[in-house]
Amino acid sequence: MDIKEKDNKINLLEYDADGLKPIIEGLGMKPYRAAQICRWIYSEGADSFAAMTDISKADREALRESAEICPPELSERIVSHDKTEKYLFSLQDGERVESVLIPDEDRLTLCISSQAGCALGCRFCLTGAGGIRRNLLPHEITGQVFKTERIIAGGLAERTEAGLPAKITNIVMMGMGEPLMNAGNVFEALKRLMSPKMFNISSRRITLSTAGIVPGIKALGDSGLNVNLAVSINAPNDEIRDRIMPINKKYPLKELIKALKNYPLAPRRRITVEYVMLNGINDRVEHAAELGRLLRGLRCKINLIIFNEHVGSEFRKPEAASVLAFQERLHNMNYTAFIRESRGADILAACGQLRGISARKALTEAPPGV
Ligand code: SF4
Repeated sequence: MDIKEKDNKINLLEYDADGLKPIIEGLGMKPYRAAQICRWIYSEGADSFAAMTDISKADREALRESAEICPPELSERIVSHDKTEKYLFSLQDGERVESVLIPDEDRLTLCISSQAGCALGCRFCLTGAGGIRRNLLPHEITGQVFKTERIIAGGLAERTEAGLPAKITNIVMMGMGEPLMNAGNVFEALKRLMSPKMFNISSRRITLSTAGIVPGIKALGDSGLNVNLAVSINAPNDEIRDRIMPINKKYPLKELIKALKNYPLAPRRRITVEYVMLNGINDRVEHAAELGRLLRGLRCKINLIIFNEHVGSEFRKPEAASVLAFQERLHNMNYTAFIRESRGADILAACGQLRGISARKALTEAPPGV
């Protein structure tokens, strides 16, 4: 049970480990209590102040009176036949965002959202079709991880029995929104995810995915956060990219590739190039050769993502033979290229399918503008 009793209480999840100190002092406690409370919340998974047994009774009472631990509320949980889980979370103002939990052998990846909606309007993406509603705050981004950890803990026995991993191992910022259009809040959220006093997730296990916001890529590089970078390229030239990703008119491929080459990659890491394959649009062998030339000199690996068809979509998935030929051409040019069939497509949890509405509704309704 989350602690939420009065609306005017201070939500402790809004603060990072240092930010908690003045709050705790303001409640009349010694500053060192902040570190204890932080440990209880993030390391011990305490779900009530009563569980914080090394904190005096008086201080626990003061916390109960004035503070709360209030993550996003789970509005809907839906499980795919491939065991991918999609969560619809409600934020305090009633806004809704989605996260997707993807089990894969010993990995458990959580894909989180950075905005409610998205302004970039990529033509193959359902999130973009609804436009942008607002940016998420740092604690609304990390709150998706916090809440998912509690959901997992609540069903631990069933997960273990089903042979599913029991702990989130990787975070990808690939859900709703363009993270680099909300860079300040996203960078703060990343710091909190990596903080040993908070979520303690290694930068090696966090990936930020962008549609190619050139100044944002530079800012991310300068931030020293050192997370993995994925970029949604999806086209071998500006002509095709202009048609499917309007942001390309602002940051064309030449500028984008230059920014990627300047991104300070840690040793042995590579940029992930995402390429959603659309039948008859960008899936020919000539496109693969052109893509190979475009990426020359970039330390990267390429994920070829089979487009997920959905109600009202103007695009179709590519033929299997085209995908294999595309991959082979890239291999012949010495690239590492994987074919990725998106997970959770049957529950609209796959890449480009998140809309921030009930999955049951989304499965039966065409997106706006279609
Ligand atoms: S693909 Fe990403 S950047 Fe493009 S509209 Fe969808 S959420 Fe926005």
